[in-house]
Amino acid sequence: MRFIDEFRDPELAQVLAGQILARVEPGRHYKVMEVCGGHTHSIYKYGIDDLLPANVELVHGPGCPVCVIPMGRVDDGIALAHREGVIFTCFGDMLRVPGSHGTLLDAKADGADVRMVYSPLDALRIAKANPERTVVFFAIGFETTAPSTALTLRRAKAERVRNFLCMCNHVTIVPPLRALLESPDLRLDGFIGPGHVCTIVGARPFHFIPADYGRPVVIAGFEPLDVLQAIEMLLAQLAEDRCEVENQYSRVVPPDGNLRALEVLAEVFELRPHFEWRGLGFISHSALRLTEAYRELDAEAYFDVPGVRVADPKACQCGEVLKGVIKPWECKVFGTACTPDHAIGTCMVSPEGACAAYYNFGRLAREREFV
Ligand code: SF4
Repeated sequence: MRFIDEFRDPELAQVLAGQILARVEPGRHYKVMEVCGGHTHSIYKYGIDDLLPANVELVHGPGCPVCVIPMGRVDDGIALAHREGVIFTCFGDMLRVPGSHGTLLDAKADGADVRMVYSPLDALRIAKANPERTVVFFAIGFETTAPSTALTLRRAKAERVRNFLCMCNHVTIVPPLRALLESPDLRLDGFIGPGHVCTIVGARPFHFIPADYGRPVVIAGFEPLDVLQAIEMLLAQLAEDRCEVENQYSRVVPPDGNLRALEVLAEVFELRPHFEWRGLGFISHSALRLTEAYRELDAEAYFDVPGVRVADPKACQCGEVLKGVIKPWECKVFGTACTPDHAIGTCMVSPEGACAAYYNFGRLAREREFV
């Protein structure tokens, strides 16, 4: 298939692996963070880790939208789902994210009308088909998915759909990256930049990483050759003492992003003063809420949302995984008490979660020989 097969060519992968090997200095350890959960998924699905020299270590970042939703927001969603007359809609992954007393699937089993949708437009269609009910869409995701929520809200407003509300949990990627870079206990040599987010926001928002923190960034696509080439480009910057933002995914990511998407985002959303991230705590200006012009469609303005704050379970180390401090298999409950069928933490729920990627693709090699 065009644009797929040529980016999965095993012979070209071996060529890139050879170029990567030629780039590394023996005796030096390289630590590269892939920001996006989509990259984590590709890395373990295609065994990219196994093609790298042992002194090139990939660590996982905070870019999995399901993984970063805190338990309190799940509890708030479940509280709305149990309201009289509400149809609660969300993406499939979200149904299995544990709150403090269960998941949205458990709420459905208890009688709440919880429905899985594939897009916010599906939720709007449900609202139009059920004018006597109130339909809440639980919106999650980074800048990648926020435009589709924004366009749906714009349409709901234009068509005067009175029974459609959005509980907005959209987050933005730059503030958690800045928080990670400020952390004294994390040593990183560079970043594989989030290709999907950059399709919307472009490369410019990431220039602070080389400028303020002296780390290179290569924005990358999600096929195996994309990821390998991005690693080679990062190692080339390090070898040549360069430090900049490069765009490996130029076939999709325009330098300034998608201006029409940015325009609708600015119309519908504004930054929240702060938002709680699973395992990372409160981060300033790291999430979106509806602007005043769209307040009538805001579930948090319409309902008295409890605003629950719940500490993560003691056994859960999702925060350490999301910060790249530990590998999934270093969590004490990985693969025993916490599995995709019975997740304790969020990183085991979504296929983009690092724990689920490790578990599903069996990439459990914990040590490799140091070159
Ligand atoms: S194994 Fe489970 S609890 Fe541990 S970090 Fe992963 S998802 Fe969180």
